Amino acid sequence: MNQRSIADIIPLSNWWPGKEKPFLISGPCSVETEEQLLSTARQLAATGGVHLFRGGIWKPRTRPDSFEGVGEAGIEWMVNVKKETGLPIATEVASAHHVELCLNAGFDVLWIGSRTTVNPFSVQEIADALQGSDIPVIVKNPVNPDLQLWIGAIERLQRAGIRKIIAMHRGFSFFGKTIYRNKPMWEIPIGLKTLFPSLEIFCDPSHICGRRDLLAKVAQQALDLGMSGLMIESHISPDKAWSDARQQITPENLLTLINSLHVRTKFPKGENELALLRSEIDRTDEDILHLIAQRMKLAEEIGWYKKENNVMILQIERWSEIRNTRTEWAKKLGLTPAFMKVYLDALHAESIRRQTHIMNEADSKENKPERDII
Ligand code: PEP
Ligand code: MN
Repeated sequence: MNQRSIADIIPLSNWWPGKEKPFLISGPCSVETEEQLLSTARQLAATGGVHLFRGGIWKPRTRPDSFEGVGEAGIEWMVNVKKETGLPIATEVASAHHVELCLNAGFDVLWIGSRTTVNPFSVQEIADALQGSDIPVIVKNPVNPDLQLWIGAIERLQRAGIRKIIAMHRGFSFFGKTIYRNKPMWEIPIGLKTLFPSLEIFCDPSHICGRRDLLAKVAQQALDLGMSGLMIESHISPDKAWSDARQQITPENLLTLINSLHVRTKFPKGENELALLRSEIDRTDEDILHLIAQRMKLAEEIGWYKKENNVMILQIERWSEIRNTRTEWAKKLGLTPAFMKVYLDALHAESIRRQTHIMNEADSKENKPERDII
């Protein structure tokens, strides 16, 4: 795909005019019952800030014994939401059959989920079924961090004549420790935007975070990086949701979250560059803090080992080895010994404080709070 073919995409502002940014998509992860759907939609409509109502009818679940969506029955409920609230409706399609059903029912927008974007056969099947329609389609990134696969899915839709296309960033599966359900890896959507500046990119903080408390920060990061829309899952009673309960929020909390966001204006070039650099610094600091917290947990594990084996806390040889090796590594990275002294002393003092607490005051490892996912 080249710049020219992407330029054929019709900008959102042309087919959905008058919507202030960010364009907001919300609704439950899954369509569960007609009542759940309608009550959520009524409250979302009342916020006045939601532009498109989402609801998953067919749910691609990791394990076969999870709730896999209500299926066809949900189509009519979604259509009723539109009739009653006036909100346009969107759902995920993963096959030609889904596409046909949704086109016939009058859905306003369709999206391709990340588990489908990975599969060119499925994307092609969907693209073929969409041929001749001018419905807008959102293409979520593939679950794996493969930019070419994401571009390929967009290209397949374009070749089927779809011109209202939006890319949606929802993070990437990650093997290892991360606070996110799906690691943002912002460099990938940034790479997409760099290659295709006219393509609009939305963000789905819900599936990136997997938990409510991180949503606002990720949504803000997305806006700070110039993403022009957000998809945030909401549910009338999130804790009772049949899927993705931990990441859904009430319509009321959605409104609070949206009102807390800073929508950046277009700065003059120099200042815009500054804002981008600063948000990069914020993310880097956040990563550093998570690593430090992870290191402290390890120091605590060692504290328990020392307690159980009657070993002294302060091991001078080890401490001196840490100081020497780290100072050497740091030098190669352009960090001064003076800085490293302050940093290592602080780190060591805190580790000793935690181990001392374990040795003298903590009664049992079992009573310790659960180790955080970091
Ligand atoms: C969803 O939006 O409900 C969903 C399943 O998302 P994703 O494809 O990003 O996992
Ligand atoms: Mn979900």
